[in-house]
Amino acid sequence: MAQIIDGRLVSQAKREELKNRVKALNDKGVQAGLAVIIVGNNSASRVYVNNKKKGCDEIGVKSFEYALPEETTQEELLSLIENLNKDSAVDGILCQLPLPAHIDEQAVINAINPYKDVDAFHPFNVGHIMIGDYTFLPCTPAGIMEMLDFYDISVSGKKCVVIGRSNIVGKPMAMLLLKENGTVEICHSRTENLKEECLTADILVAAVGKAYFVTADMVKDGAVVIDVGMNRNEEGKLCGDVCFDEVEKKASFITPVPGGVGPMTITMLLENTVRAAENYKR
Ligand code: NAP
Repeated sequence: MAQIIDGRLVSQAKREELKNRVKALNDKGVQAGLAVIIVGNNSASRVYVNNKKKGCDEIGVKSFEYALPEETTQEELLSLIENLNKDSAVDGILCQLPLPAHIDEQAVINAINPYKDVDAFHPFNVGHIMIGDYTFLPCTPAGIMEMLDFYDISVSGKKCVVIGRSNIVGKPMAMLLLKENGTVEICHSRTENLKEECLTADILVAAVGKAYFVTADMVKDGAVVIDVGMNRNEEGKLCGDVCFDEVEKKASFITPVPGGVGPMTITMLLENTVRAAENYKR
């Protein structure tokens, strides 16, 4: 039976550390601040933004919310970002994705000052992740690395298979595992013999976005299984990409959904915000 990797526990430990770092900044007269922009009425986005605000409140980061109507033009959004780039009270800027279809997401990402880009989506930061000398780490993969570290799971020399190649999860995940000396393979929808590829994994990361996609016959005995997926099953219940009940019996460690990767993502956003304030305000 696998040991559960408890994302809530790791997240709480990290937030305690962040509270202390925020306090140390306060003692120097520095207040860390995060600006969160949300455009339109996407209900999932609203939940994420509320949770980000709660996280800021918990650790003592000031949050500034900009809730803009669906019909906001790209020019209006870019103009707000330009102002936030110049605002010294704002250390981090985050524009909640997805944006309405009439707005070019990449243009918006490119407009954010890379030193305030706490999502680490700007090409400047993506380039640094590739080189391995980063300031900001992409939040979901960084949260996974924190969890592996917390549970003393070494990546060095291990065969790591990442299913998914998105810019937000799959690709940066592969880069962070590579930096820790994993032997990394990225799989995607065109991968042939996916099951056989997965069976080679000592560490298997599923970032597919399909409920119950990874079954026990795809998992090597004793593998570490990280489930990034956040899906709704037929009953509307939150579930991951992994068939937890059957895979748990084969894995050595496994992340549940909910309570695994999810809680870490916002915590790592807070880490990036505190780091921005530490780097550029003191
Ligand atoms: P995405 O952009 O849709 O990427 C999904 C990836 O899965 C793609 O690379 C796709 O391959 C691959 N894929 C799809 N079907 C496949 C198949 N049959 N076989 C192999 N690969 C397949 O999704 P994402 O943004 O990376 O997110 C992935 C999941 O993680 C979603 O459930 C999302 O909600 C969740 N997520 C969770 C958190 C969190 O904090 N817990 C954060 C971010 C995302 P192609 O590239 O070939 O299409």
